[in-house]
Amino acid sequence: MERLQKVLAKAGIASRRKSEELIKAGRVKVNGEVVTRLGTKVDPVADKIEVDGKPVPAGEPKIYIMLNKPRGYVTTVSDPQGRNTVMDLVKDVPQRIYPVGRLDYDTEGLLLLTNDGDLAYALTHPRHEVEKTYLALVQGHPGEKALERLRSGVLLEDGWTSPAKVRLLRREKGNTWLEIKIHEGRNRQVRRMCDAVGHRVLRLKRTAVADLYLGNLRVGRYRSLTTKEIRKLK
Ligand code: URA
Repeated sequence: MERLQKVLAKAGIASRRKSEELIKAGRVKVNGEVVTRLGTKVDPVADKIEVDGKPVPAGEPKIYIMLNKPRGYVTTVSDPQGRNTVMDLVKDVPQRIYPVGRLDYDTEGLLLLTNDGDLAYALTHPRHEVEKTYLALVQGHPGEKALERLRSGVLLEDGWTSPAKVRLLRREKGNTWLEIKIHEGRNRQVRRMCDAVGHRVLRLKRTAVADLYLGNLRVGRYRSLTTKEIRKLK
């Protein structure tokens, strides 16, 4: 049994607060009876719930969110060490969502969160070779030889990396911004690739997953994907 306002929020009817207002306004019926008491417990499957006379579907809708992850957050649902997690940034989403893949504690940028297990699997399974785009600020000025090594594959502890697309974007003081596109998803892969060619990563930001772009979403903010964006990912 769950609280009525929570069930309405999870079903995507309205936010938890708005759902409470709907209940107080007498717009919600449970098994044919108007319910105005906020704490009322219901069974989302067995009870017939209506808002303004329209049935509320049992179960949760699929939701798809992109977050611009800041540095200093772990990509897990909970952290035994008590650090900030990306879930702290999407607190007002009523559905139980989880991150698709992982960005390191100090990596910024595009992180998808969803409750769609099939999509999460398709995007993270190595066989599907989904391309991820990163901007990396690396120490020093990599020469053509280092760039060529990154492009053709470098030897890491866990084997050779697949060819990557690498572009030199601009120099900044003593450092260099690179755009790196990879379709594997090994642990700390971009950082380790750059280390392997002698250029430590100072900042790392993911800007795209396949055809989905972070755009100008502000750091720490999130938004729902559009129907078109969801279709492109599937
Ligand atoms: N590669 C890394 O090194 N770190 C990330 O967070 C993602 C890709």
